[in-house]
This record gives sequence, C-alpha cells and structure tokens, in this order.
Amino acid sequence: MKKRDKVRFILEELERMYPDAACSLTLDGNSFHFLVRAILSAQCTDKKVNELTDTLFEKYPDILDFAAAEQKVLGEEIRSCGLFRAKSKAIIATSFILAERFGGEIPSSSEDLISLPGVGRKVANLIRGELFGIPGIVVDTHCARVAKRLGLTSSNHPAQIERDLSACIPKDKWITLGHRFVAHGRALCAARRPACDHCSLGEVCLYANRS
Ligand code: SF4
Repeated sequence: MKKRDKVRFILEELERMYPDAACSLTLDGNSFHFLVRAILSAQCTDKKVNELTDTLFEKYPDILDFAAAEQKVLGEEIRSCGLFRAKSKAIIATSFILAERFGGEIPSSSEDLISLPGVGRKVANLIRGELFGIPGIVVDTHCARVAKRLGLTSSNHPAQIERDLSACIPKDKWITLGHRFVAHGRALCAARRPACDHCSLGEVCLYANRS
C-alpha cells in the first residue's frame, strides 16, 4: 500500500473508532485555567489534574491569585500531581509573566507560549489547538507510541515525530489526530500488550506485522 493510501486508511479508521475524541483536560471557558491544567498534566493523568484543579481554582481563581501564591504552599496543594516543586514554581512565574507582559491574556504564538515557564512544545501546541483552533500535533507518550508502531515515524524524539507526522498528515487533521492517538493508546494500543487482535489497523501496522 502506498504511504498516502496508508495514511488515509489510518485517519479514516481512527475517525470511525473515535469519532468524538477530544481533549480530556477540562476546558471550563477560562483560558488561564486550561493553561494551569496543561502545566500540571506533565507526567500526571488528565483525570487527576481535573480533580485537583476543581478545588485548586476555588482558592486561586485567577492569574493574580497564583502570582501571589507562596510556592511552598502551592507545592503542597499540587503535590499529588508529581513534580510539584517545579510545577508550583513554573505556575507562579508564568502567572507573573502573563500579568506583566501579556496583559493577563494567554498568547497564541508558539514563541510566546514557549517563553512561559512550564510550557514546552507539547503544551504550546495543545494551547494553540484547544484555545485558538490553530493546527498543531500534540506529541505525548500515546501519540509517540502509536505513530511509531504504525510506521508514521521512526523517531523517539517528540520534535522529529511532530515533523514526520506534519509531513504526511493533512493540516486540518492535526488537532483531532492527536486526540485520536491518545484515545487509541488508551483503548487498544497500550504500551504493554497492545490489543492487536481487536484493532482494525493491524494490516498497516509495523508492530503487528513484525517478524
Ligand atoms: S495493531 Fe496493535 S500495535 Fe498496531 S495500532 Fe493496533 S493495537 Fe497498536
């Protein structure tokens, strides 16, 4: 099968399997809240982040509340999300920068987003896609694993994986593709023991056809 046909098949199958795949971090209409959740989601499940922030945002409803937070206190409050020292430091610093340099608004350019502490390429693409509808591929652990197994990349490095996927996937599919890779990684293509017998992508999957 030609690469173009293989990509089309994968996209169609993922759409059929996960028609409603969407970001599992809560989007409550407050852009800053979403940014905080995205920072907290590093090496933590979205479910855990959503639960924790439900109460966290009662104490710190806005940017200035986080900017005025005591790092040690905030760190304890987010401890269960992991990397709590680095995350509390990043959230406070980012809140300051947003208030001082961006008028309290979340910027939309990659460059500005990546300049914020706690925001890397993955979070920047997530923010751009979810808050601004700007196409970008969010390469998280599920996306990286599924893309490599399917032979859409041979790299383990997020930046290269993003380049490889961007080169073969139509731009208007980039946002939903990331969500569908995550859904597939959770539902069937687990890191350990993927359920290939139940997966309709088997015929085009390098991993399933390895000798
Ligand atoms: S066939 Fe197996 S390894 Fe390939 S995408 Fe499906 S679940 Fe993953």
